[in-house]
Amino acid sequence: MAGVFKGLFSDRQGDVREDFDLPDYRLLVSSLFSSPGSIIPGGIAGILTPYLCWLSTGASIFMTLTALVTLVVALRIMTVISYRRRDHSDDSFAETRRWDREYFLGATVFSAVLGYSCYIALTQTEDPAAHITSVASTIALASGYVSRNAGRPKFVAVQLLTFCVPMAIGLVQASNDYYHYIGYFAFLYVAANIAITNSLHRNLLALSEATKQSRGLASALHSQNLTLDAALNTMIHGLAMYDRSLKLAICNAPHRTLFGIPETLALPGTPLTAIARFLIERQVISADQVRDIRSALSEVQQSQQAVTRELQTRGGRLLVVTIAPAAEGGVLMLTEDATERKATEARIERMARFDELTGLANRFEFNNQLSESFRKLERTGEAFALLYVDLDGFKQVNDSLGHDIGDRVLSETAMRLRGVIRGGDLLARFGGDEFVLILPSANLAIVTTIAQRMIDAMAKAFLLETKTVYVTASVGIAMAPLDAATPADLLRHADTALYKAKAAGRNTLTFFNPAMAEEMLDRHEIEVDLRRACENKSLELYYQAIIDLKTQDVVNREALMRWRHPTRGMIPPGIFIPIAESSGLIAAMGDWAIRQACQDAAAWPNDVGVSVNISPLQFREPRRIVETVKEALIASGLGSHRLTLEVTESLLIEDNKGTLAAIHELRALGVKFALDDFGTGYSSLAYLSTYPFAQVKIDQSFSRDVHANEASKAIIEAVCQLARRLSMNVVVEGIETEQQRIAVQLLGAHRAQGYLFGRPEPVSAFSPGRGRHVA
Ligand code: C2E
Ligand code: MG
Ligand code: MG
Repeated sequence: MAGVFKGLFSDRQGDVREDFDLPDYRLLVSSLFSSPGSIIPGGIAGILTPYLCWLSTGASIFMTLTALVTLVVALRIMTVISYRRRDHSDDSFAETRRWDREYFLGATVFSAVLGYSCYIALTQTEDPAAHITSVASTIALASGYVSRNAGRPKFVAVQLLTFCVPMAIGLVQASNDYYHYIGYFAFLYVAANIAITNSLHRNLLALSEATKQSRGLASALHSQNLTLDAALNTMIHGLAMYDRSLKLAICNAPHRTLFGIPETLALPGTPLTAIARFLIERQVISADQVRDIRSALSEVQQSQQAVTRELQTRGGRLLVVTIAPAAEGGVLMLTEDATERKATEARIERMARFDELTGLANRFEFNNQLSESFRKLERTGEAFALLYVDLDGFKQVNDSLGHDIGDRVLSETAMRLRGVIRGGDLLARFGGDEFVLILPSANLAIVTTIAQRMIDAMAKAFLLETKTVYVTASVGIAMAPLDAATPADLLRHADTALYKAKAAGRNTLTFFNPAMAEEMLDRHEIEVDLRRACENKSLELYYQAIIDLKTQDVVNREALMRWRHPTRGMIPPGIFIPIAESSGLIAAMGDWAIRQACQDAAAWPNDVGVSVNISPLQFREPRRIVETVKEALIASGLGSHRLTLEVTESLLIEDNKGTLAAIHELRALGVKFALDDFGTGYSSLAYLSTYPFAQVKIDQSFSRDVHANEASKAIIEAVCQLARRLSMNVVVEGIETEQQRIAVQLLGAHRAQGYLFGRPEPVSAFSPGRGRHVA
């Protein structure tokens, strides 16, 4: 039916567009169609008006008008039905305008026809019934228009004019004076109604604006809620807000998950008590914990200060709950699942305090505990002992059997040492193969017993896969407050005692005494001076002859290092070589000795060789020693067969591949090797056959009592026999007397060295014309 009156009106789109935007326009148009209930009674009244006039007057014009009104009313009802059947929320502007016009057209034609009917009744008839019917109906219908079509005031104006103006004119033209007055009133009525319509229209517009605004607000609020929801639910932490009366206001998904609260229970308005009951029933947390949280909530409400609680759930999670005051007396509950964080923190702390390999306290933790022991000493006077344990020969195990075996020896050691101590003692791994124990006792007997037990615990062999390893322990002990007043001093003194225990032959315990400290102090001073001596080149090489016992000829000279200290005088190598070894100076000093000895020997007769003592530590850098020897030989022009390197058994025990390769490489160059101090260490005859030695030097302790001691005799004899079979020379060291010389010669020695033949002397002593060689 839409489009029935299309084309009858000019295009007023311009007006409408200026006044409203599309949604407003739609709203106004829909207000026109909003009450079909008024169109039907209005329509009936409209049809009855000319019909009653016809009944009363019999004039046929009224019958025609009745038919016309009926047609218009029918078309209007069809338009309304057609409009109301559809949803107009998405109507375009053109569609809305079409409905607008159709309505306008229908209403205007309706009012115009009725206005005309009224005019005819008033001017063409003298029938009072027709007059009253027409005027009453026109006034009544016109009033209805005002209220119903207020959405389109211009329409109302047109309709009022088409309705009431013919009536007013009719009244004015009538013969009755009173009709004239009513006719003038009718103009006023039109004017008043137009004003009312405009006012209604304004109200309608205001209403529309208000509706629009509230819709906008609602949609903004909705999207804000969505954003808030998304933000809340993407938080890692659980969040719940309770109002003043501890009813749930809001909570996010993580909160529900952390506490296992179902969505139905997490609705706004749920009292805390209900949630608490649920948590207890489901055994998420205990009743005590729930009570604790509830009292914390109340506490926060009162104090307005945030509090934090830790909850260990039955499911094994650690929740950190922070409760803070919220607006209007409410509280905010922020829950962090700290399970992983705490575990990581604990792991980091463990790593920071404990040694990974042995599980014992580490150096850091030990230092803390030692400081704590001193604090306790100050407070309570409780004395204690510090036991410094170092494994003997561990380095060899590590180097020869590999770090895996080394590690297993260390963890097994930790276990054995742990077996010796009691609850209050602190055992720590200080690093490498060093362990320390704080023993809360000042009783010497007890301390000695524990230390001895530790040593004994190590005596048993370590059975590691196919390997059997023996490692012993040395223990240095210092007491607090007897030996030291600070942690650093106590440690240093225990270390000094340990050094002494090592020097005393290892596998033993030693208590600190102040004399040791002085000695250590000396040691330190010597180290400083020695470093300077190396820089100043104030070391010298002395030479001691090695003679052939048959011919009495000097066949070789051993280079022995000397250090003339500016204040202490001549310092023997027995003192400064170990210091050079422990301070790392030995490498440079050893290089220098090789170069200097080669250079000195190059000036000697061709049949006199030179021996240089090499520290096992120099073989830690096998390439370095090989290169140094090569360079020294080239630089001095000394034949490589004239150079002998003296090494001790301790080098061979380490059984290092690098060492062996270096020895072979030097042998291939023609350089000889001598096994020095044989008989003092492990004295394994096996070394003699395994390694390519040209010479074995029997330690002076055997020659000293060779004429009286049968054992010494036997050893010298056995070594000489073996050496002969292996085509080695035997040098017996420390021959001071003729008696000794004869004895060793009889036992089969080929060569000898000792004061009897000559003391170590500076090179100038046997190379006249050459000055003393100062390094
Ligand atoms: P060593 O290689 O066994 O040297 C022999 C030591 O015995 C020398 O002591 C020598 O003076 C001493 N001696 C020789 N004949 C007699 C004697 O008849 N009676 C007594 N009582 N002693 C005798 P020195 O020079 O004090 O050297 C001690 C040790 O220091 C050497 O023992 C050697 O192991 C080490 N040494 C010396 N010079 C060097 C060096 O340049 N490098 C390295 N790495 N070690 C060195
Ligand atoms: Mg030697
Ligand atoms: Mg020797």
